[in-house]
Amino acid sequence: MKIILLGPQGAGKGTQASRLSERTGAKHIATGDIVRAEIKSGSDLGKKVQEYNDRGDLVPDEIIVEMFKPHLDGADSWILDGFPRNESQAKALEEALEELGLELDGVIALEASDQELVERLSGRRQSEATGKTYHIQHDPPPEDSDRDPGPFVQRKDDTEESIKNRLNIYHKQTEPLKDYYAERDLLTTVDATQAIESVTKDVLAAVGEKV
Ligand code: AMP
Repeated sequence: MKIILLGPQGAGKGTQASRLSERTGAKHIATGDIVRAEIKSGSDLGKKVQEYNDRGDLVPDEIIVEMFKPHLDGADSWILDGFPRNESQAKALEEALEELGLELDGVIALEASDQELVERLSGRRQSEATGKTYHIQHDPPPEDSDRDPGPFVQRKDDTEESIKNRLNIYHKQTEPLKDYYAERDLLTTVDATQAIESVTKDVLAAVGEKV
């Protein structure tokens, strides 16, 4: 299974990708997680990408492509979450797949209104212990520290200003990829405003059609 989960920040790509990964064994490759791990490591590269991350800007293509590529190697089943985010990255992915002799099975786009996304992102909290994300109202962090000890913090880029910037960039640069993949007959859209389990059901059905 080789699929891309496309969608704006807050649509639930990370949540759905990890559920899909648990159920199918496919590797979950999230470029946002790769970026945050690099920042946490304190490396020079981490310092460089931190500015982009905190502002909600895209990391330049040549940097993110080099960070992403090694994760593709060796896994024969994967779900991409957060990559590609523009046409140039989509082309870089095509080239990388060609070099590896692989083909993309499908692209699943999660859809939700900006109003819903802003509400979800501003209530989002991430566990520093497990990396798992919660929502203060819809999916609160567990009180039982055996399940997840936390602490549960707001991501640096989940401020109002950064959220607006990221949604803007999504509409301008990433959303056109829906047409790009529809033209290649690879796209299925899913309503991401449904309950988490219903979205997973639709995503699994879409994967079943494509793989
Ligand atoms: P995410 O967790 O997917 O929202 O990603 C967090 C941040 O990492 C983004 O706001 C960007 O700064 C950076 N990032 C992640 N994926 C990409 C990508 N494909 N292209 C450029 N920057 C990215």
